[in-house]
Amino acid sequence: MDIIKTVSEMGQRVASARVAGETISFVPTMGFLHQGHLSLLEEGRKRGDLLVLSIFVNPTQFGQGEDFEDYPRDLQQDSALAQQAGVDIIFAPTAAEMYPSGYATYVDVEGITETLCGASRPGHFRGVCTVVSKLFNIIQPQVAIFGNKDFQQLAVIKRMVLDLNMAVEIIGMPIFREADGLAMSSRNVYLNQDQRQQALVLSQSLIQAQQFVAQGQTESAEIISHLKKEIAKYPATRIDYVQICHQLTLEDQTTIDADSVLLLAVYVGNTRLIDNAFLVPDND
Ligand code: AMP
Repeated sequence: MDIIKTVSEMGQRVASARVAGETISFVPTMGFLHQGHLSLLEEGRKRGDLLVLSIFVNPTQFGQGEDFEDYPRDLQQDSALAQQAGVDIIFAPTAAEMYPSGYATYVDVEGITETLCGASRPGHFRGVCTVVSKLFNIIQPQVAIFGNKDFQQLAVIKRMVLDLNMAVEIIGMPIFREADGLAMSSRNVYLNQDQRQQALVLSQSLIQAQQFVAQGQTESAEIISHLKKEIAKYPATRIDYVQICHQLTLEDQTTIDADSVLLLAVYVGNTRLIDNAFLVPDND
């Protein structure tokens, strides 16, 4: 396994892979790998001859006062995990390599980026779309694998790829969870023991909502108001949003149907956690 830090070296490797007729599969991450990332790599290993993992904490997707500086980083441990997962190349550029002096180009997807996380993190998806476009151009994968954990991000990337005629297949993978239900996230390390316990209210809310739907509840407002009351019982929590949306457009739905997805963003202490689930079974 090679660790490549420059765009030019990555370009050379991609060029020779292409000449050799190899399929390139790609998993973009910000590192501090956990089993959720590893499940994406496992899928990537199956789908490509050359499996590329990027590790880049992208400054342009963090807002003022967010955790860019504090975001956990451990390239040594990530390298060991990546090697075990069968990664061929880790692409780990510096911020200066990706955004050299004079950098001036950004990718803005409209509409679908303006709700949910886009509403509370202005500019976030502009940074995500910009870096993912750049990584696609540098790595030229035929397949790229993302997690449903960042449900809106996946929808936005699919929109961007369609709109900009990018020749890459986008695959979404199920959310990988801890044994007690907490969705795996690099940010979970920020939680102390008590917050870690209170954070279970996110995944429990998703299950509760699925149960309401299974019992015949179809009114989004009823479910949302019930969940908000439940979450508010946990003193470390502060709700950013609880919304039921159409899984493709991410528009709010008043009535639940087979396309409904419940999306949550909740601060636990200072840590902002997200989670989501389809509301009708056999959908994910
Ligand atoms: P991140 O490093 O957090 O930017 O995530 C990189 C990729 O891993 C994204 O496509 C995420 O959606 C995905 N991912 C993060 N957490 C999980 C998880 N618990 N299960 C599955 N995929 C995940």
